[in-house]
Parts: sequence; structure tokens; C-alpha cells
Amino acid sequence: MIPTQFDYVAPTTLAEAVSLLAEHKDDAKILAGGHSLIPAMKLRLAQPQLLIDIGRIKDLSYVREEAGHLRIGAMTTHYELESSARVREICPLLSACAGSIGDVQVRNRGTIGGSLAHADPAADWPAAILALDAELVATSASGERTIKATDFFVDMLTTALAPGEILREIRVPLAQTHASQAYFKLPHPASGFAVVGVAVNLTRQNGACSAIGVGITGVAVKAYRATGVEQSLNGQTLDEQTIGAAALHAADGVEINADLFASADYRRHLAQVYTRRAIMAAAK
Ligand SMILES: Cc1cc2nc3c(=O)[nH]c(=O)nc-3n(C[C@H](O)[C@H](O)[C@H](O)COP(=O)(O)OP(=O)(O)OC[C@H]3O[C@@H](n4cnc5c(N)ncnc54)[C@H](O)[C@@H]3O)c2cc1C
Repeated sequence: MIPTQFDYVAPTTLAEAVSLLAEHKDDAKILAGGHSLIPAMKLRLAQPQLLIDIGRIKDLSYVREEAGHLRIGAMTTHYELESSARVREICPLLSACAGSIGDVQVRNRGTIGGSLAHADPAADWPAAILALDAELVATSASGERTIKATDFFVDMLTTALAPGEILREIRVPLAQTHASQAYFKLPHPASGFAVVGVAVNLTRQNGACSAIGVGITGVAVKAYRATGVEQSLNGQTLDEQTIGAAALHAADGVEINADLFASADYRRHLAQVYTRRAIMAAAK
């Protein structure tokens, strides 16, 4: 439980962090809240020679409405999102998702950027970010690029971030806010991670579903958009029958995880049940 020896730097600007990362490449790791990286280092699953702590960079922690987006700095903690009155008002899915993570200590230290960059298959944020059609802004020595949430999660613990890139900001289109939203999750009793977590962002017109985003985590190697559910509901009147039938598609086309806690069959069942409950809650 003791990490290998490493050096530590705490730059105060993003430019400095990016240049350190470019210089040290795969030998370096970004340190955000440390709630995933430090345990991995103690288990020697990660053995970076240099930790670049981005916690002292002031302008990486914020929530603001700007240029058509709700912009969230990568170092914004789960607690800051959970407790923001404005976020709760315009995008309650983000508050609900943040509030469901781990315990108070984890929410106080852990960051949305760290969670997304880590891409744990049972992490909560990926489901919400997918349901909201968010974009992620990555910065490197060669500039900045925007990655759609649907392209960001590549595999277990693997994202579209290239070597040398730092996740700087998460952008939720303001058009996706002010919708009917819900996050339903079965937490693992020990860690709080999602055995299954379902995020729903629903827009209605005359009682029918005019648009819906359903993001699911915990079920497969990476979080995904449940497109089968979305297609079944688009244009439909939202009642128990249509929602129940659509929810049966929650795990269509994905290879379902099995572990000591939940078999693949049980997880499929949970995905269907939690999808139905989350959509019913959003539709109320
Ligand atoms: C006891 C416990 C319970 C938990 N329960 C839950 C839970 O219920 N749900 C849940 O979703 N999570 C849970 N977590 C994880 C927690 O949410 C962490 O916040 C998250 O895993 C990582 O965020 P972090 O800020 O700590 O990142 P770190 O641990 O510092 O970093 C994680 C990884 O991401 C990289 N990284 C970090 N920030 C950036 C960036 N801006 N750009 C590029 N790369 C970056 C790091 O190099 C590292 O590889 C739990 C953790 C613990 C310890």
C-alpha cells in the first residue's frame, strides 16, 4: 500500500501544467482530487514519476452560464455542483448526480474533471454528461479541442483524451437545461459507485416526448447512451405502458458486466427497472 517514489509539482497556471505534461509525457500524471489516482498509486496500478497537481490553478473551478452553455471547470468538486442553487434550478440532473456520489469526504475532494478523465465504468458523471449531450474541452501544448460526450468514453478507464491533454471544461448546452430530469441509481453498498445509474433529460410537447437523452453507467465497460430507449419514446405519449416498453431496451447492444455483486442478467434487469423509474420520475 505504499506508492513508488515520485516527484510532485503544483503549477499555478494551466499553461505551466500543459507544458510540464508535454515535457514529461507518459511519465507524468495529472493530480486532481486524488480519490482515484492515489489509491491506484498505492496499489501500484499507476506508477507515475511525476505528479502534476492542478489544484492550485485558480481558474479551473467554476460554474457559469456563457455563450449558450453551462460551463463547468474541470476542478469543480462534486460538492460544489451538488450545493449550487443555480445548478439545482436549471439543471437538477447535475445536482442529483453529484449528491449521489460516495460520501461527504469524497464529494468535497473529488472533481467532475477527475471523474470524467478517469472513466470508471461505475462512475456517476458519465451518465449525466451523456444524457445532457455535453461537450468536453481539452487543452494541450498544441491548442484546444472540443470532444462530444458520446465520443469521449472509449473503453474501460479509457477516454478520447490524447497524451498531453488536460480536461479543462465541461459544457452543457443551455438548450438542454430547464428540461424534466432525473438520476436514479442503485449504489454499491460499500463504495457508493453505481451498480447501475440512469440519467434522463426529457423534453415534452403537448404531453408527448419531443426529445430524450438517456445515459447509463455501471452496466458495461463504459457509460453509454441508451439509443434503443430514446428511439422508442421519441414522439410517444408518456404513460406507464410506453415508458415500460421503452425501458426494456436499456441494455440493448451492450456487453453487460458481471461481477461478485451482480450477474449480467441481474444487471440487465436493474438497467431496465432503473430506466423505467428514472423516466417515470422525469415525466411526472
Ligand atoms: C471511497 C470512495 C467512494 C467513491 N464513490 C464514488 C461514487 O459513488 N460515484 C462516483 O462516480 N465516484 C466515486 N468515487 C470516485 C470519486 O468520485 C473521484 O472524485 C473520481 O474518481 C476522480 O476524481 P478526482 O478529482 O479524485 O481525480 P484523481 O483521482 O486526481 O484523478 C483520476 C484520474 O484522472 C486524471 N485526471 C484528473 N483530472 C484530470 C484533468 N482535468 N485532465 C486530465 N486528466 C485528469 C488523473 O491523472 C487520474 O488518472 C469514490 C471514490 C472513493 C475514494
